[in-house]
Amino acid sequence: MSEEELKPCPFCGNTNLHHTETSIFHAVWCKDCGAMVDIDDGDAIKLWNTRPLEDALQKRIAELEEQLLKVSKEYAELSFARRVNKHNETIRVR
Ligand SMILES: [Zn+2]
Repeated sequence: MSEEELKPCPFCGNTNLHHTETSIFHAVWCKDCGAMVDIDDGDAIKLWNTRPLEDALQKRIAELEEQLLKVSKEYAELSFARRVNKHNETIRVR
């Protein structure tokens, strides 16, 4: 039996889950909404924790956060450059 931690239920977010491993029955289910995975021969925890769409979305969120940080830094540098230019123009006028 794997000691891997179970992810929350993908449907309701509940963490009150039940895991059963017998010689013929491997299952994980949500005690709140009843969502269940069962497999005759395999790792029910691994099956429960397999979330390709969720993983792809998390990856995309990380990419977008990185892009946002980069754009924010560029904007801050541009804003600073404009303030300096404005200040220089003011000095030139005097
Ligand atoms: Zn659930």
